[in-house]
Amino acid sequence: MSFISDSVTNLPPYLFSEFQQKKKTLQADDVDVIDLGIGAPDLPTPDFIIDRLHEESRDPANHRYSTYSGCQEFREAVAHFYQTQYDVELDPDSEILAVIGSKEGIANLMHATLNPGETVLIPDPGYPVYRTAVHLAGGRSASLPLDNMNGYVPLYDQVDHEAIEQAKLMLLNYPSNPTAASADYDTFLKAVAFSWENQLLLVHDAAYDLITFHDSKAPSVMQVPGAKEQAVEFGSLSKSFNMTGWRIGYAVGNKEVIQALATFKSNIDTSQFIPIQKAAATALTSDFSAVAAHNHVYQERMERLHEGLQKLGIKAAKPHGTIFLWAKVPDGFTSIAFADKLLQDAGVIVTPGNAFGQRGEGYFRVALTVSVERLDEAVSRMAQLDFKEVTN
Ligand SMILES: *Cc1c(COP(=O)(O)O)cnc(C)c1O
Repeated sequence: MSFISDSVTNLPPYLFSEFQQKKKTLQADDVDVIDLGIGAPDLPTPDFIIDRLHEESRDPANHRYSTYSGCQEFREAVAHFYQTQYDVELDPDSEILAVIGSKEGIANLMHATLNPGETVLIPDPGYPVYRTAVHLAGGRSASLPLDNMNGYVPLYDQVDHEAIEQAKLMLLNYPSNPTAASADYDTFLKAVAFSWENQLLLVHDAAYDLITFHDSKAPSVMQVPGAKEQAVEFGSLSKSFNMTGWRIGYAVGNKEVIQALATFKSNIDTSQFIPIQKAAATALTSDFSAVAAHNHVYQERMERLHEGLQKLGIKAAKPHGTIFLWAKVPDGFTSIAFADKLLQDAGVIVTPGNAFGQRGEGYFRVALTVSVERLDEAVSRMAQLDFKEVTN
């Protein structure tokens, strides 16, 4: 007999582990592997945030359990952020909840909203965590097709009709991992309308909301009139403030759903360490010059890599944000075959597009989480390869 639940046993294999295994083998042979597969910032958390953590961690009052929904200062900071960034009013007591990273929040939201067998529309290609979160909560996921031709906005008329009828939730993520696509306000307006027409809860993952280039600004679903009836939005400090390890984010929006998530979570965790919440509050109420500095770094890397890939005949749209470049694999390759060739023959790790869903096939994702010099090195190694040599 097995002690392990069916839902854990039946989780899809972690696609990245195979590449990480090959990376270790190559490194054991002294190959200098350039890992462009890691979707986490390489830059440090800004000092002013660390300073606040230091200070607050010495106060014994902060060593106790946090209130379940997160400390008052943190929730007020999120409200302040929505006010200044989006001109959206949120009630810190009923419409905002601290989460231990948005990954935790999204996974627990599925449990707080889904009954066994209920359907969730998830973006394809999209962040793989959505599918597994739905699966672990006993739900079913159905594909919400996105396409390069349309800038990766949802293709509602291509969703299976039965899936729409059965669906209870729809997930979106802009600026997007893995496609680096951005949404405009109109995309969210349509998404809220579609959710209303089909009685869906719209769940927007805004993990990259502040990572934008040039003068572009990412909108919030909450800016759409009526969004509070129909939607919740997850935000995270992880990417915008280089705080992946701190585990702090927030859920905002529909009161009933936020309270259900808070209730569910109150039976599992007791929110995040108070000093971390307070440090995050300092980040959210800051002037965002640190964010602008990080964005400048990503943008420079993006431009450089884009230019390098273009010279190799590899096509990629220039993104308006995120820490990724989403590129087309050369003709004759599958995503896996191309990623394999890059690793074996160039010592470069990229993520094959099919890791993000069927419709990611034919693409690969590059994370802009190494220096310009390393990106240059990766491109020059790729230039040594003959892409036409191997076909699958
Ligand atoms: C990194 C990432 C997250 C996870 O963020 P945490 O707040 O660190 O859990 C969520 N969504 C997307 C799309 C991401 O890329």
